[in-house]
Amino acid sequence: MSGVPITYAERIRTLPPYLFAAIDEMKQQAVARGVDIINLGIGDPDLPTPAPIVERMQQAVTDPQHHQYPSSSGMLSFRTAVAGWYQRRFNVTVDPKSEVVTLIGSKEGIGHVPMAFIDPGDVVLVPSPGYPVYPVSASFAGGIAHEMPLLKQNGFLPDLDAIPPDVARKAKLMFLNSPNNPTSVIADVTFFSRVIAFAKEHHVIVCHDAAYSEIFYDGLRPSSFLEAEGAMDVGIEFHSLSKTFNMTGWRIGFAVGRAEVIAGLSQIKSNMDSGQFQAVQEAGITALESDDRLTAGLRAIYQERRDVLVAGLRNLGLEFDTPSATFYVWIEVPQGYTSASFTAHLLEKAGIVTTPGNGFGSPGEGYIRMALTTTKERLAEAVDRLKHIGW
Ligand SMILES: *Cc1c(COP(=O)(O)O)cnc(C)c1O
Repeated sequence: MSGVPITYAERIRTLPPYLFAAIDEMKQQAVARGVDIINLGIGDPDLPTPAPIVERMQQAVTDPQHHQYPSSSGMLSFRTAVAGWYQRRFNVTVDPKSEVVTLIGSKEGIGHVPMAFIDPGDVVLVPSPGYPVYPVSASFAGGIAHEMPLLKQNGFLPDLDAIPPDVARKAKLMFLNSPNNPTSVIADVTFFSRVIAFAKEHHVIVCHDAAYSEIFYDGLRPSSFLEAEGAMDVGIEFHSLSKTFNMTGWRIGFAVGRAEVIAGLSQIKSNMDSGQFQAVQEAGITALESDDRLTAGLRAIYQERRDVLVAGLRNLGLEFDTPSATFYVWIEVPQGYTSASFTAHLLEKAGIVTTPGNGFGSPGEGYIRMALTTTKERLAEAVDRLKHIGW
């Protein structure tokens, strides 16, 4: 029996090559050989969701009122909890009715937002290296992603002055991400103010991704984009409960900011999905209302891990900035290596999986990313193995 010819749509055919495929293959082979792999490649917390959140979910799931369709923009009680959290955490006031939308994980909102504002040929400015969803969602909406390289000489922040005038003219949307995956760099309110001035001059909507705002060290709390004067005039901020509360599997996040931008995103959502399960939103309320009680302990664990890895890597002479936030270390590859060859070297000689920096965009070439999503004992073991291999 022969089927109909299957032709994939251009938006799929033109997806960038999956640069992690080669490393996945090598990892499978190492596992098959019986190598005890230490995986520092994963951007997913290894620890369970805190018990009070799970318990609230257990109760909520039995309530028949949650068994029906939710509203696609989210329960008002969840959005009110978001507004309360913004007030306490950032001293920013937002209207839960018009300036907050519940998301099925922040990736969902990031993936959908260009569809609300981008017409074919419009430019979307994306940080690179960066979360692959930014350029892909731009292209799915028919837009053209323009990379803003994150370079060491600029403190790994986008250089707004380097954006060519004709690109700025066609730009309608800019993605930003602080604290940053993969570089771990935190942008401050001064930088956000420059972004706001740029956005106002060039009529660009700013979409700031703050998924790691609560994973920080040494008491250095990252700022919200919305703390900067005028931010509410130009854009929105994405947040996620995934990293803050070890809830990656639950799919719960939100966007906050300028009402018309939230309304555009909500309009796309109401035509594409029917919102997040209300029981998950109930659990999310428990998480947000806990403020620091559930997160402080998590931060302490990551900080211990960070200190073990950073001290070990420094001793080995590797070049990197100690992360002040996120659970990533962004490391320069030694002389004579590329991102791919150093990743391969660490896997073959030490059984350590890392992520090649060029997988996040070509300006990431020359770097690898290590994640702190494994125990401090395993991180110490990784450092020990690295001492023996050389490069
Ligand atoms: C993990 C991550 C997110 C969060 O994704 P969710 O869909 O909320 O789980 C968003 N942005 C970046 C850069 C991330 O690394």
